[in-house]
Amino acid sequence: MGMTGENPDLLIVGGGPAGMMAGLLFARAGVKTLVLEKHGDFLRDFRGDTVHPSTLELFHELGALDALLSRPHDKAARLSGLIGGEQVSIADFSHLPVPARFIALMPQWEFLDCVADLARAYPAFSLRMNAEATDLLWDGDRVCGAVCNGEPIRARLVIAADGRRSLLRERAELPREDLGAPIDVFWFRVPKARTDVNQSTGVVTTGRLLALIDRGDYWQCAYVFGKGMADAIRERGLDNFRADVAATAPLLAPGLDELQSWDQVKLLTVELDRLTCWHRPGLLAIGDAAHAMSPIGGVGINLAVQDAVAAANILAGPMAEGSAVDDLLWRVQRRRMLPTRIIQKMQRTAQNRIIDRVVLKNVPITRPPRIIRLMQRFPILQRIPAWLIGLGFRREHIRSPEASAPSR
Ligand SMILES: Cc1cc2nc3c(=O)[nH]c(=O)nc-3n(C[C@H](O)[C@H](O)[C@H](O)COP(=O)(O)OP(=O)(O)OC[C@H]3O[C@@H](n4cnc5c(N)ncnc54)[C@H](O)[C@@H]3O)c2cc1C
Repeated sequence: MGMTGENPDLLIVGGGPAGMMAGLLFARAGVKTLVLEKHGDFLRDFRGDTVHPSTLELFHELGALDALLSRPHDKAARLSGLIGGEQVSIADFSHLPVPARFIALMPQWEFLDCVADLARAYPAFSLRMNAEATDLLWDGDRVCGAVCNGEPIRARLVIAADGRRSLLRERAELPREDLGAPIDVFWFRVPKARTDVNQSTGVVTTGRLLALIDRGDYWQCAYVFGKGMADAIRERGLDNFRADVAATAPLLAPGLDELQSWDQVKLLTVELDRLTCWHRPGLLAIGDAAHAMSPIGGVGINLAVQDAVAAANILAGPMAEGSAVDDLLWRVQRRRMLPTRIIQKMQRTAQNRIIDRVVLKNVPITRPPRIIRLMQRFPILQRIPAWLIGLGFRREHIRSPEASAPSR
């Protein structure tokens, strides 16, 4: 697809939320951009379905919100939970000062496919699927490209957007700080009847934590447990697992018969880390490659997208004009490190305060914590988590140039 034999200006490794969004924005600015994705399609392992109000706002700024929302999705204007048997509201997005005041629950492949469609409208954009980068190319100690399926591809800049197991960040020897994530997740579907209002929720009882995403005719369930315990749970047998899930979330019980084999239960391992330096001459890491996010809060996709926007805001204009950008790379890290730190700090606090007590230490949960009870008495307080989750910190706006109108 496009550009074979001809070197791009920008080589992006990884077609996840960070890489695809960066591909769209740099190509939109007229930078000749090639995105490499090792998979043959966007139907990868599940890595979250939540598109937050801040990301929807970016699509609005790109004039593409309608295109995105024409894809299958559900809207969640509120987040609620069942804590210690009590139904509670946690976040209310309906007051946020943005065009789309809800979380769009959209399969990640629809999201990525939509970004790819938008990007293809710009002639500077190319996407190669089934294209795995296996090494970096060096010019002295400057990165000057990558090897893809055995073929060297040179570029003025390489963006490592290859996720939390990033090969590129390792090859570039970027220093990493492991923050530790004591949990893993089992991920499975349970059929349900459709309802008018999206009923996504979380269930917290003594020793158990389940997140339930309402996907219309099925629940997408995340069962959280202590890291490394997957085999022990499997060994206890599927019957025990089903009984455990039904006892934790009785609303799942009617559909649980459909869960007939461990093949239907996917293990997702959780990691939390960040690079202390996101760049070196010729290379910049963004998204999970720069900071692997935990699923807590469902903010990883949005943070990855915001990184891409910041990178394009700082680099796309100069690159389109032909300027060298090595001296600008640190500015992307400076801009994005603060929100990364704050969100990871929140994720760690949630891990330690809630997950550690509930899942690892079995502390009895008889009623919601005081802060959540306060939110029920004063619903206006539910706007605070809505702001933190929905908009985050230092949210980005599209400031990178558009070189030519898209050919749609
Ligand atoms: C269990 C779990 C649940 C989660 N749930 C949510 C959620 O509900 N909402 C949310 O916002 N976030 C969630 N997250 C976090 C979220 O998945 C990530 O933060 C987000 O996907 C990061 O995007 P990214 O583009 O940086 O990386 P990724 O999405 O990991 O994309 C990296 C891409 O690079 C490709 N790639 C890797 N290596 C190479 C290579 N060598 N050559 C070519 N291509 C390569 C991969 O195939 C992949 O497509 C979850 C994470 C976990 C672990």
